[in-house]
Amino acid sequence: MTINPEKFKALLEAKKAQVKADLALAQESTKPVELDQTMVGRLSRMDALQQQQMALASERRRHQELQKIEHALKRMEAGEYGYCIKCDEEIAEKRLEFDPAILTCISCSTS
Ligand SMILES: [Zn+2]
Repeated sequence: MTINPEKFKALLEAKKAQVKADLALAQESTKPVELDQTMVGRLSRMDALQQQQMALASERRRHQELQKIEHALKRMEAGEYGYCIKCDEEIAEKRLEFDPAILTCISCSTS
C-alpha cells in the first residue's frame, strides 16, 4: 500500500464528527411542523412542510454518509482500506483525499 492509513483515518474521523454535528443541528428543523406556533405568519404550512421534507432528505443523506464512513473505518481495521471493492486495485490517493470513504477506483466508478 502506498497511502498512509493514519492520515486517512484522521480524515475519516474528522468527517464523521462533522456529519454527526450536522445531524444534531438538523434535528431542530425536522421537528413536527404544527408544534411551532412562531412559524405562523412568517411561513405558510406548505412552505414549512416543504422545508421539513428538504431537511429530512438531507438528514437521510447524512446517515448514508455516516454509514459509508463507518464502513471505510471497518475496512481500514481489516487492512482493506484504499483498495477498490470491485477490481482490488489501489485507489488513487487524490481520489481518497477528495472522498476518504470512497470504495471504488476511478475506472470502476464509471462502469
Ligand atoms: Zn476498480
